Amino acid sequence: MFGGVRVGIVGAGLGGVAAAGLLQRQGFDVTLYDMAPGFSRLGAGIQFGPNVLKILAYLDGLDKKLEEISCLPDYWVSRNGTDGAVLAKIPLNAEHERYGAPYITIHRGDLHQAMLDCVETQRIKWGHKLVDFTDNGRNVALEFENGSTETVDILIAADGINSRIREKIFGLEEALYTGWIAHRAIIPGAAAKALGADVNAKWWTADRHIVCYYLDRKEEEFYLVTGEPAEWTSRAGQLPSTREEFKAAFADYHPMVQGYIDAAETVTKWPLKTRDPLSKWHEGRVVLLGDSCHPMKPHMAQGAAMAVEDAAVLTRCLSELGVADLDATFEAYYGARKERATKVQSISNANTWLRQPEDPYWCYGDNVYNLKLTS
Ligand code: FAD
Repeated sequence: MFGGVRVGIVGAGLGGVAAAGLLQRQGFDVTLYDMAPGFSRLGAGIQFGPNVLKILAYLDGLDKKLEEISCLPDYWVSRNGTDGAVLAKIPLNAEHERYGAPYITIHRGDLHQAMLDCVETQRIKWGHKLVDFTDNGRNVALEFENGSTETVDILIAADGINSRIREKIFGLEEALYTGWIAHRAIIPGAAAKALGADVNAKWWTADRHIVCYYLDRKEEEFYLVTGEPAEWTSRAGQLPSTREEFKAAFADYHPMVQGYIDAAETVTKWPLKTRDPLSKWHEGRVVLLGDSCHPMKPHMAQGAAMAVEDAAVLTRCLSELGVADLDATFEAYYGARKERATKVQSISNANTWLRQPEDPYWCYGDNVYNLKLTS
């Protein structure tokens, strides 16, 4: 039914890949473009909650494939950073039936590869950096840095926090540096186990934290990711760091955390940036999703989850409300997503999530396929 509708998605991050896979399954003629020369296995972990796993089920049962290879923590444990006292113990997979799906922690590269495998390979165009586009009301002409051009009927911006597409529609505005960075490292699972690691924990003190979890079913890799105040003047999206710098930032933390950091060989640091919410996510034949329209600090572990939820709701809007009146369809998408995405963005930026006992059902129990769409 939608075979004649050409959809160009710029950005093959987790949001763009989800949109490509879901729209292809509805029969749209989808092409996915990314400026990267190809897939690379970024050294980091990611948590995906039940709200996202319910969506991945629509990619030919990807949820089940991921459950086989990922770690399935029963609980989320919040600890005081200095003495290790438990502040909160929140059921994750211990209550997966209530949430409607499992909660996984996984290597980000393994997740990305598994999601890319759900998109027709010949429709993924690496080495395509979008430099400009023109929406003439009937279609959208795309111009890439490599000199190639393409014409699509709908353009989806999944090009992340520094979105070129967002910039062209809403104007150039630098993302806001929050004053915080994240150190990231992966250590051997055996080293974490020897220290008595929790399966999934966040250690907190007044102005910083460290989140620690296993990345695979066999618990062979253990991931450390922090949030901490620091200067950042570079324009780079990440920089190499050192074990010593990492350790100095957590010098007053519990010996178990010190032990994790001692086991870190390769350490990187990332600036945490955000943007104010947008009052519109679309213009003409162009529509935004994920970090291109609502980037956030990562402290709810829901940034990519929101990008995938956007992809699912946008797919529903395009296939259920149709493409004849794109303005109405995109308005319905924005209306269905704005409140939830902004709520998550605001709690995530405030860094309060699950620090104290609370019921995360409103977030994890949500199912975008139960949403009533109104045009
Ligand atoms: P991105 O992943 O940024 O993808 C954008 C893509 O667009 C890239 O592949 C890029 O190469 C491409 N691109 C950009 N410009 C162009 C162009 N002009 N032409 C062509 N291609 C272009 N989220 C979670 O859900 N769970 C977590 O546990 C979690 N942990 C996090 C930890 C940290 C430290 C950080 C920083 C973030 C974390 N997040 C987490 C958030 C998550 O990483 C982002 O929200 C998510 O990656 C956004 O996905 P996206 O597809 O919108 O954009």
